[in-house]
Amino acid sequence: MDIENLQTPFYLLDEEKLEKNLKLLDYVQKQSGAKILLALKGFAFSGAMELVGKYLYGCCASGLYEAKFGKKYIAKEVHTYSPAFKESEIEEISQLSDHLVFNSFSQWQKFKKKVLKNTSCGLRVNPEISASVAKSYDPCAAFSRLGVTKKEFKKDLLDGIEGLHFHALCEQGADELQKVLRAFEENFGEFLHKMKWVNFGGGHLITRDGYDVKKLIYLIKDFKKRYDLEVYLEPGEAVGWQSGVLVSTVLDIVHNQIDIAILDTSAEAHMPDTVLMPYKAKITGAGDAKKKRYRYQIASNSCLAGDIMGDYSFDKELKIGDKIIFEDQMHYTIVKNTTFNGIKLPDLLVLKKDGTIKTIKKFGYEEYERRN
Ligand SMILES: *Cc1c(COP(=O)(O)O)cnc(C)c1O
Repeated sequence: MDIENLQTPFYLLDEEKLEKNLKLLDYVQKQSGAKILLALKGFAFSGAMELVGKYLYGCCASGLYEAKFGKKYIAKEVHTYSPAFKESEIEEISQLSDHLVFNSFSQWQKFKKKVLKNTSCGLRVNPEISASVAKSYDPCAAFSRLGVTKKEFKKDLLDGIEGLHFHALCEQGADELQKVLRAFEENFGEFLHKMKWVNFGGGHLITRDGYDVKKLIYLIKDFKKRYDLEVYLEPGEAVGWQSGVLVSTVLDIVHNQIDIAILDTSAEAHMPDTVLMPYKAKITGAGDAKKKRYRYQIASNSCLAGDIMGDYSFDKELKIGDKIIFEDQMHYTIVKNTTFNGIKLPDLLVLKKDGTIKTIKKFGYEEYERRN
């Protein structure tokens, strides 16, 4: 893979790795009978969508723009859920969507007449079991606006509703899904016999090493046996998981008690979850701070003091012009990028299966101007 002559920063999706994820997800579909959708919220790289469409049933969207995008680039089923739909968009959304999931009975009542002719409608419920680790990633935390709780559920308004949706996981395994399913059935099981489908949401990190795929398949099959309905899953992260990198260049090395390498990329703008979650991204060939001989703080060329990727160590001294490759940078990165501080948005490239590199999008000054 010759990346030396390419202008940085850029994201590089590895098609072979993406396809490996998709094949595993397809295996789950075939073994369990569930249908899997890509959650565009986490991964919407246009250069990957054709391949996604080869294996998955379609996408889940969070509103008009994602629905339009999914229709255009994946061109299969579109399932749209939003915490609140807008009057001005609902008609178009319902025409684009195979399933439409409402977050409340008030939205359902408000839009029912407008959408019923176009799409299959469902309701998002809140199973009120916190399986997610961090609060900002927990849709079932106290006071959550996401989904109807059992207490607020109005069964006399269910006429026309064909499915229930829950989303309670984040980077989790089949054991957590089992707990959520149990709570979901306890709270809402009595309504399932009237439904045509159930959506188990996202947060299933099926493609991570060690995920209990067998158990997932068992849970779905077992559920489908008890309730004769269609089951959907809508992971985002699991689709893009470990399928590509962010490549940057060392612009300068400065010293202030420690060696600091300044790159042409930004944690804040290009790897936001490293700041938000937070987590430390892996750099190819580097170790944690004290593992190897040459130590550096790796940081951004933005003017934000805290825009730092972390402390790493290398076998060889870093030089200006060296490439630094951050691993696993496909999900929740491109979809969240900003032009903060005028730093160049990373271009979007694909490493094809035949070894060639294809440029999908190049970004320049215009992006900055257009947004400001
Ligand atoms: C975020 C989200 C997903 C995808 O979650 P991942 O953690 O990326 O798998 C799916 N469904 C809904 C409703 C979401 O909000």
